[in-house]
Amino acid sequence: MNIININSTMTLTPAQISFIQSILIHGEDDPWSEDDFIHLTQDIPIFLLAAHSMPNITPVGHSRYDEKRNAITTDLPKFPLDRKPPMEYLGFFDAAYPLLGHPKPIIALCPERIASCVQNDDELLMLTAVVLIHELAHAKIWTDGLSHYQPAEDTFSHWMEESMANAMTLRTLRRYDRNHDRWMRSQGRRPMTTAAPLANTFIRSIAEFAENFMRMQPDPYRLGAELSNRLVSRFWYRWARDKGQLENKTAEKENWLNYVTTHLGHLEMQHLEELYNAIFSRDNAFDIYRRRRGQ
Ligand SMILES: [Zn+2]
Repeated sequence: MNIININSTMTLTPAQISFIQSILIHGEDDPWSEDDFIHLTQDIPIFLLAAHSMPNITPVGHSRYDEKRNAITTDLPKFPLDRKPPMEYLGFFDAAYPLLGHPKPIIALCPERIASCVQNDDELLMLTAVVLIHELAHAKIWTDGLSHYQPAEDTFSHWMEESMANAMTLRTLRRYDRNHDRWMRSQGRRPMTTAAPLANTFIRSIAEFAENFMRMQPDPYRLGAELSNRLVSRFWYRWARDKGQLENKTAEKENWLNYVTTHLGHLEMQHLEELYNAIFSRDNAFDIYRRRRGQ
């Protein structure tokens, strides 16, 4: 992990780094592939920034997205202002940051802002891991994309990208929880030869912590906590690959967006899967003809 502290008053401790690395190893579904999280942390530097050096995002979310969301979902209750901030308030991924004159992918974290959202050291450790993995998920989507990376500019892309990044994070943490549990039990049967810094009950519940945090975030992020692992496995790479080629799917995108914005909290997974399928299905010749004629 290539961590460069630019101007933060805090740093990541060796214990935090080894905890995060063990999640990245045990939580990865396809370890040792080129786009796995460990490879990404070797290729992409992680900058630590002070709060005043972070992009200006309000703690409750991007106001322009909220405007559009409220236009669609006026019947949803308004959120109290003490909700959790979006991940991008705490860190961000930039696919083309000008570094020594060349555009390079980077991740930035703001340890001060992360610390301002937690109650104690265990939570700090967990939230730092959650934010970093969320940004690595953006990096993974970017790495696997055939089209050029496009930051989430429109409401649909914003909801799809942020919910997917959060859902990929949760899937990783759940797998880590399971694998780590198995590892702990296997250790119990053998004499311990090494110290086990991970044998902390707080740390073992990181998936639950992350899910609770995400459920308090702005809606596009909260959606990520409600997507099933199966749905994420099926569609994250479709989004990565096809995100730049969905301009014809106006109706399908609108159907999906209408459903997730109005049914958040009680989504029906089978129906949701059909909506994802519609967005990512390849057009056949007849569909293309029909679309051209505007039917
Ligand atoms: Zn994000």
